[in-house]
Amino acid sequence: MDYYGSQLSRLIEQLSSLPGIGSKTAQRLAFHIVNMPVEKVQALADSIIDAKKNVRYCRECFTMTDQELCPICSNPRRNHRMIMVVENTRDLAAYEKTGKYDGVYHVLHGAISPMLGIGPGDIRLKELMTRLQGDVDEVIIATNSSLEGETTAMYISKLIKPTGIKVSRIASGVPVGGDLEYIDEVTLLRALEGRIEL
Ligand code: ZN
Repeated sequence: MDYYGSQLSRLIEQLSSLPGIGSKTAQRLAFHIVNMPVEKVQALADSIIDAKKNVRYCRECFTMTDQELCPICSNPRRNHRMIMVVENTRDLAAYEKTGKYDGVYHVLHGAISPMLGIGPGDIRLKELMTRLQGDVDEVIIATNSSLEGETTAMYISKLIKPTGIKVSRIASGVPVGGDLEYIDEVTLLRALEGRIEL
């Protein structure tokens, strides 16, 4: 790739190391970046560095945020007695986009997968159980409908059952194996409203 010169080649190489960016896209982005005004490039670079430095996990729900408590957990108008369990921050964002859920969340950061060697101790389950010692009316399990998501849902419901807290699972209608973030808001809303008590 030396026909681009080492600086440009390095930029292309860095960009193509990102997920979902193939070498063609990386080249297109690199050319776009070098043609941008320098202030815009600076702003882009700064936003990457700032996000990396300041983004952390919410102390309550473990979503990614830049405060100790995320805006949802620190909002007194949300129903803090209803916790929706999701696999990642992108799934949380998908439910937030529906604008119809007023409870809070718990982000697991993964799902149980015996095949990949990911056990209950590798996701934020212990933290969920700690939260359930407070005042909680319902836990809605909104993990994906993949094998891993279903395994995780089953595991969590078994853990919670003895506490007497109501546990429900979002309804099917969410395509099997579908990543929640790619599902439209109407489908998500229907899945939430049609949730089934476990
Ligand atoms: Zn939070």
